[in-house]
Amino acid sequence: MSIKDVVALSGGVGGAKLALGLSRVVPSGSLTVIANTGDDFEHLGLSICPDIDTLTYALAGLDNPTLGWGRRDETWSFMESVKALGGEDWFRLGDRDLAVHVERTRRLRSGETLSQITTDFAAKLGIGARILPMSDDRVRTRVLSDGGWIDFQDYFVRQQCRPVVRALSFDGAPESRPAPGVMQALQTAGTIVICPSNPFISIEPILAVPGIRDAIRASGAPVVAVSPIIGGKAVKGPTAKMMAELGMEATALGVAQRYGNMISGYVVEHEDAASVAGIAARVTAAKTLMLSLEDRETLARVVLEAADALRR
Ligand code: GDP
Repeated sequence: MSIKDVVALSGGVGGAKLALGLSRVVPSGSLTVIANTGDDFEHLGLSICPDIDTLTYALAGLDNPTLGWGRRDETWSFMESVKALGGEDWFRLGDRDLAVHVERTRRLRSGETLSQITTDFAAKLGIGARILPMSDDRVRTRVLSDGGWIDFQDYFVRQQCRPVVRALSFDGAPESRPAPGVMQALQTAGTIVICPSNPFISIEPILAVPGIRDAIRASGAPVVAVSPIIGGKAVKGPTAKMMAELGMEATALGVAQRYGNMISGYVVEHEDAASVAGIAARVTAAKTLMLSLEDRETLARVVLEAADALRR
């Protein structure tokens, strides 16, 4: 085990911010990011992997800072043309982004695995960190709302998180296997980081892949989570709304309770520190709101220092 080897579990937007910070402070080749694929879906005949792509674009410096998702310098001719034909336009695919989905879909159909394709795209885009899908097998997050079960992107994008969430399921997870490299990365990790991602729809699908939760527990490495909730609010997205609907306290404490004894370190915003003082994990108060690149790097250092403190 090398204390330099850092493994981060991540969803999309919130997770990718910290993953970028980690990629800039961890030695090249020592960072592995395990990405949620529960949000993946097939749309307009294409295989779309929102969290892998958000991570890839962020780590390659190709992310769109205005939209907060998708690619920089994007144009929308494809989408406009689909719309003019009466096609589905509720999930927006930019022209540059489209190239990734088309090429990934072609390669998947020719028999390559998602992890091979993800690794290759990352290399072609000059990313030093390793991005691994949690699994090459199909896992799909579904949402139970008052009208019944709906697909995740129907809930998240088409209905903009309006339905009340009664339960979540990760279809296919019980039969799925960790992607090649995932178990080895966890077994040899010096530090495991749970990024400030939505616990229910970004981190728990990863933990639902058989073997991953046990490998984290067995690794012996410090497991440091960063709260995605600041002052009772999500920075972006439905995390707080979802927690309340699932009968949990929508606070940094609620997130820590959800992770339970899996985490040994917990990084929260200064204002939330007092509220989590009683948890078993070692608490670090910091500025966890990442607005600038410097914020991302500083928080990454805080997380690594928290892990060091747990090792001492
Ligand atoms: P998604 O898959 O695109 O929804 O992205 P994630 O699950 O990775 O991230 C969503 C979560 O990130 C939300 O709960 C946000 O509150 C959280 N988040 C976004 N930006 C920040 C930030 O700068 N700091 C912290 N602490 N959390 C953030």
